[in-house]
Amino acid sequence: MATERSLPYRLRLPGPTAVPDRVREALARPVVSHRGPEFREIVTEATALSRRVLGTSNEVLFFTSSGTGVMEASLVNVLGDKGKALVLSNGQFGERFLAIAEHLGLHADTIEVPWGETVGVEAVAARLEGGDYRAVVAVHNESSTGAVADLADLGAVVRDTPAVLIVDSISGLGGIEMRQDDWGVDVVVSASQKALMCPPGLGLASVSNKAWNVIEGHGGAASFYWDFRKAREAAAKGQTAFTTPVSLVVALREALRMIHQEGLPEVLARHRRLAGALRRGGAALGLPIFTKAPLISDTVTVFATPDGLDGAAVVRHLYERYGTVIAGARNRLKGKVLRIGTMGWCSEDDIREDLLYLEKTLEDLGWPVERGAGVAAADETLRQA
Ligand SMILES: *Cc1c(COP(=O)(O)O)cnc(C)c1O
Repeated sequence: MATERSLPYRLRLPGPTAVPDRVREALARPVVSHRGPEFREIVTEATALSRRVLGTSNEVLFFTSSGTGVMEASLVNVLGDKGKALVLSNGQFGERFLAIAEHLGLHADTIEVPWGETVGVEAVAARLEGGDYRAVVAVHNESSTGAVADLADLGAVVRDTPAVLIVDSISGLGGIEMRQDDWGVDVVVSASQKALMCPPGLGLASVSNKAWNVIEGHGGAASFYWDFRKAREAAAKGQTAFTTPVSLVVALREALRMIHQEGLPEVLARHRRLAGALRRGGAALGLPIFTKAPLISDTVTVFATPDGLDGAAVVRHLYERYGTVIAGARNRLKGKVLRIGTMGWCSEDDIREDLLYLEKTLEDLGWPVERGAGVAAADETLRQA
């Protein structure tokens, strides 16, 4: 049983996500020294398996941290205290990058577009011509809206400029494609609790040579804990600079083994198939997709709640009556969206159950639905895919 409640507990958030049994068992293994040979072997394998998901040959740095910590780390390391960032903002996490910069007194300009859309690369190219930016900062998978950035296009624009491309792929990595080296993404930050199928608490950063040159060319990070240079020195010895959350690295290694056993292309295809089925099923229940960007997320599905239906009431009822935990919004979209994770340890039956409980919830709340329409539409998609 997942909780003390007698109801089932279905964790269907866009993070944290459900943790597979294999990973939970890995978490129970004995804690070993983070400076010893046993851990070195674990982190070496976790690094190699992470690289394949990232599409990189970079050193991968691990931190005891939620995602926001490594977002902050990417800014303080690349910008130093004088560099200027161009932040592409199309949702809650773009705004968070701006808030971090503002809080730390770092220079940041922004290109802002309405939530649900993505920033066009032409606008980025134009701004890079005029300004001396040390970093362009983007969110790969904007979890608040379901918009996905076209990183291949963005990388092509930033690649031949002095700027470093920093990308938050916290809710993307492991669920949607990332080809860091091919696309020219200089810094990828991510975290354990989304498509990587682990509990919260482990942050990671993958840093390109171009980014290292920038980091080494200025006065250094205005932070002790987050200094990437210290992290790299430790990583070369199979360690982290400070005490490692050893159990979480063991868990990540297990989750990555699962991903590669299924096959990374197969894992990405599964995410695509499940997200497509959930979108179709939701549409059949009268829930349109909120996202307007050309690339729509396969790791989080964001429905717009129709006028007259309170999204917060749907979220509450799904939990209280059906033990199903999905997300609404804690920002300007409060009450207006329903967000369901389709990332990580997620199956066709999870999607069918989501749609069944969603239908029942709408019915319980007096909203008109055609019984069975959601699951039937999802099934049709799943059969074709
Ligand atoms: C979850 C998430 C984060 C990080 O949030 P934390 O709560 O700090 O782990 C950052 N960016 C995106 C896009 C996310 O989905």
